[in-house]
Amino acid sequence: MASKKQKPVAATALWGIDLGGTKIEGVVLESAANPLILARLRLPTEAVKGYQHILGQIRLVIEQLQAEVGFAPLEIGVGTPGTRDPNSGLQKNSNTICLNGHDLQADLSSILGVPTKLANDANCFALAEDRMGIVPDVVPNAKLTFGIIMGTGVGGGLVMNGQVWNGGHGIGGEWGHNFLDESGGPCYCGLTGCIETVISGPSLERYYRELSGKAKSLANIVKDHEAGHDRIATKTVERLLVNFGKAVASLVNILDPDALVIGGGVGNIDLLYTEGPKYIVQHLFNNEFNTPLLKPKLGDSAGVFGAAYLVG
Ligand SMILES: [Zn+2]
Repeated sequence: MASKKQKPVAATALWGIDLGGTKIEGVVLESAANPLILARLRLPTEAVKGYQHILGQIRLVIEQLQAEVGFAPLEIGVGTPGTRDPNSGLQKNSNTICLNGHDLQADLSSILGVPTKLANDANCFALAEDRMGIVPDVVPNAKLTFGIIMGTGVGGGLVMNGQVWNGGHGIGGEWGHNFLDESGGPCYCGLTGCIETVISGPSLERYYRELSGKAKSLANIVKDHEAGHDRIATKTVERLLVNFGKAVASLVNILDPDALVIGGGVGNIDLLYTEGPKYIVQHLFNNEFNTPLLKPKLGDSAGVFGAAYLVG
């Protein structure tokens, strides 16, 4: 018996995989224009079992999604931490270290039997918020969105006209490793004074600990600053705002984006949105800063939705 409701079709559906260190999440969206979730599931990555096992887990996710929606993918987007070197095709800088040195995109295309498209998780975050998140709600005609991730690390992703800009070396949007201040000290990446070494959550907590001799979470540092009874907490929050202002101003001077979306744990701090613009304008090549600074809308789902939009 024919259904009156039009069935989702393989040709317009978007398939995405978010490959993390502990879980693999997969989703099938109805279409780019109508991102209704047709199926969604998670499996553990079990990274300790190695590279081939991870490929097998991804295949299981795709097979289970396929059983649920009743059709096969034509192409799959995959988001994961780390970078795919566009010249060698090999993964690098992934914290799931068994992925590094492999041509993950080629291996996935081979095991899944369809083309796959890889991007890093910060790019997927930016893409999801640009296409179906907060950006269309606030800046419906945005042509250029920059997604900032400020959490344990600091990263970024650039989306132009609805597409991720990876760059010729796969480092497009890697804002967190621009030089900011010597006082940040050495970065895991081999450079010194990267933005990440100054305004990531752990860097700010370290700064507080070194000045006070006490360990405190960033959330409590901000709370104690606002309560006005911890001078070192206030100094730490000032360090965040001053350096956030410098780092964002240099980004805006180069790109002048239509929207900035700030994800990650540090991105939850309201002061960045209320006080941040005052600090940004001090270093900006313009006498006003009115670019929307937006909190993301999609939460943890941005990774997998962004992966799906890599092929949409
Ligand atoms: Zn660095």
